Amino acid sequence: MNNIAEQLKLAYQNIKQKCLQLQISNKTVQLIAVSKTKPAADILTAYTGGQRRFAENYPQELADKQQQLADKTDIEWHFIGPLQSNKTKLVAQSAAWVHSIDRLKIAKRLAEQRPNSLGKLKVLIQLNICNENSKSGIAPESLLEFAAQINTLPQLELKGLMAIPALGDSEQAFAAMQQHSLQLQQHYPHAKELSMGMSADWQIALRYGATMIRLGTAIFGKRDTNEE
Ligand SMILES: *Cc1c(COP(=O)(O)O)cnc(C)c1O
Repeated sequence: MNNIAEQLKLAYQNIKQKCLQLQISNKTVQLIAVSKTKPAADILTAYTGGQRRFAENYPQELADKQQQLADKTDIEWHFIGPLQSNKTKLVAQSAAWVHSIDRLKIAKRLAEQRPNSLGKLKVLIQLNICNENSKSGIAPESLLEFAAQINTLPQLELKGLMAIPALGDSEQAFAAMQQHSLQLQQHYPHAKELSMGMSADWQIALRYGATMIRLGTAIFGKRDTNEE
């Protein structure tokens, strides 16, 4: 077995074990394989190993890989990166999910550009949970107001929240995200998804109710560009 397939298998085993330990069902936890900067061939390897959910950070890269793997119609593409107006169309046409919704203008464009044939685009609101100036995401205080605006867009389906905590601050941030998620669900009971946790901190994220963990390095190995 090759490395990617092995690491994928190991990741699923580790998640299962962690869920057992936490006494939560591993059926509520989705592993999203973050394939940014990796070639389509790597995605295909993971696909052959049974993985169907993949995430990309760059609109053009998402569109290119989706094209290259167009015959794999059961791949579910997630977009998790920052999104500018001039790139929304690529995402509206390629992704099933967008985790990084933090501007109404962008959400409106995605809604307008979403092809009817693809059904609703599932979206998560990104929170700037550590109050970082440089980070994407809305301020947690604005969550309900922003959610109400997103919820009026008919081509979008509000499914939950996402965050990328500051380095070293994961646990507090995840705990806060869990509270925000519960608050959101009081108003939008179907918006249950909580996308948080990456290769270095997914175990902590699971303790605080993560339902989507985004693993890049743990599946595909180190990336050699210094993005982020
Ligand atoms: C790159 C990236 C990941 C994956 O990070 P790893 O540490 O490689 O697991 C997850 N989420 C987002 C938003 C990312 O940009």
